[in-house]
Amino acid sequence: MKGISQYRRGGPDDPLVQEIARQKGFSEVPLFRKDRPQNEKFDLHECMQRWIAYASDRDGQVNIEQAEGNDPKHLTSLIKQKGLELGASDVGIAELTPIMINIGFEFDQRYIISVIVAEDYAKVLEGALAIEKEAFEVYVECARISTQLAAYIRELGFSAIADHNGTGDVQAIPALQAGGMGELGKHGSLIHPQFGAGFRPGFVITDAPLVVNKPYIFGVQKTCENCRICEQNCPPGAIRAADDYIVTEGVKRWQVDVPACFVASRFRDEYCHICVDVCPYQHKENRDPERIKIFKTLMQKRKKAGYRTPAWFIEDEEAVLGERT
Ligand code: SF4
Ligand code: SF4
Repeated sequence: MKGISQYRRGGPDDPLVQEIARQKGFSEVPLFRKDRPQNEKFDLHECMQRWIAYASDRDGQVNIEQAEGNDPKHLTSLIKQKGLELGASDVGIAELTPIMINIGFEFDQRYIISVIVAEDYAKVLEGALAIEKEAFEVYVECARISTQLAAYIRELGFSAIADHNGTGDVQAIPALQAGGMGELGKHGSLIHPQFGAGFRPGFVITDAPLVVNKPYIFGVQKTCENCRICEQNCPPGAIRAADDYIVTEGVKRWQVDVPACFVASRFRDEYCHICVDVCPYQHKENRDPERIKIFKTLMQKRKKAGYRTPAWFIEDEEAVLGERT
């Protein structure tokens, strides 16, 4: 099956990122600069090397014996349990379709398994660098878990290929949505009932016969019609209004203004994660008292800073917002 989804890597080699750099007269993209001020505290290049290192083990020898048989219910239960044991926060399964694969890549297998790892929401109260570090470390976890889960499935006697940030053949949102991991929000990220959009994904493409999940609809798209929180907090105004959307395969998609987002998220020294952090689905569905407390504190800080005003640097954040709570 050949992929049909256009994709954008968003890294320093992305043509759009390079074009913005040219327009701004930059020789390097600030977020990926080797000498950026934060590097002493967190080197994102070292982190990226760790997820890239998993790529060589994404596929391998398949056991000729199917020791656990080929009953879909049994295999699904084993594989989901293994994913959770390896450290996934949730695991979902869907039939693979061309829209889940990026143009230029193809797979013969029938199923795609999503493994997601939740980020620690409390990091939002520690500033931009703490959030960035958490996001990158969680991406490494996704690479590890998907790689180890693929190896486990090959051991069960079925082909299995891992996909993650170090490979990037899979289009995450449609695979996650079809695998029951949640609904697409106006900020362009998938919203999970437990973790909001505060998670990162990895995938395994396999021919093991499995029982698929159904898409999980719990009212997100309806909420986004009236909620403007991410729109009003996005520093460059990259998130569109409620009535500015397209529909793909029955799913409403608010298209984020990607060049505007890149200017704010790649052309600063820090990673931007604001739309994910201010989304009320961090607590709206799970009603976790700790998450509610973090959300309220964060929103008080953002109100003080003027909502759209980013607290980009930890130093600035302290100057603008006062001592951290
Ligand atoms: S990542 Fe930042 S700049 Fe990009 S859409 Fe979200 S809030 Fe806006
Ligand atoms: S902040 Fe509001 S509008 Fe934005 S994705 Fe979340 S629920 Fe939807």
